[in-house]
Amino acid sequence: MKNKLIIANWKMNSTVTDALKFLAVFRHEMKGMTPCEVVLCPPFTCLYALGEAFEETPFKLGAQNMHWEESGAFTGEISSLFLKDLNVQYVLLGHSERRTLFGETDININKKLEQAIHQKITPVVCVGETDEEHKEGKTFAVLEHQIKKALDGQIRSELATMVWAYEPVWAIGTGKNATPDQAQEVISWMRTLLAKVLDDPTASTMRILYGGSVSAEKARGFLKQSDIDGLLVGGASLDPQKFANIVQSAQEQNA
Ligand code: PEP
Repeated sequence: MKNKLIIANWKMNSTVTDALKFLAVFRHEMKGMTPCEVVLCPPFTCLYALGEAFEETPFKLGAQNMHWEESGAFTGEISSLFLKDLNVQYVLLGHSERRTLFGETDININKKLEQAIHQKITPVVCVGETDEEHKEGKTFAVLEHQIKKALDGQIRSELATMVWAYEPVWAIGTGKNATPDQAQEVISWMRTLLAKVLDDPTASTMRILYGGSVSAEKARGFLKQSDIDGLLVGGASLDPQKFANIVQSAQEQNA
């Protein structure tokens, strides 16, 4: 079994002061536990301070987005080089909020994926269907499109370490979840698709997470599923106690 991966997406929440307060409580909650792999994705403005505070902790730093070019006239954007400079090891790509609110396209996501792999920052590519698509029975068609577009032209041998997050858009921040069985079914289907598009060893090595209104109470149900390698957590990751409970559930599955 793979080591479970738990990623916190703080979205546009948390000042540096908030982030450091979170870390103090979270470390206290985690005392004595050997955590599974834990990645915090704070806003860009917290990366430096949190990175420094992470020294002597097992936690890893992630970013919520990045640009596909290394430098240039892209006002307001963040380069992969800036992230490397701050020891950022993971980057979320194609989060549904970026796709729907900021017009991020499959082509942008494809270029960002290529750039992240080039810089050896582990990409976490988010895919998922909207409520309407879900109700119309289009989940698999939407996922197949998003996955194939992201992978188009990438070098297969470099992809095994990348991460996918299945995040049904109707479950993000809504309090509605896919059931653990539904998430397992979709994620297992994703793995079969990845095996067809890439190959079996790559597909089985890739980690696929579930995300969408995960709470401390519900985490265990998802983590027990055989194809779910971890969780991407939004709202509940802002509370250090709740997030520590989720990490603890993942740790129990590792044991
Ligand atoms: C997310 O932002 O990726 C997410 C899953 O959010 P939430 O847990 O709040 O639904």
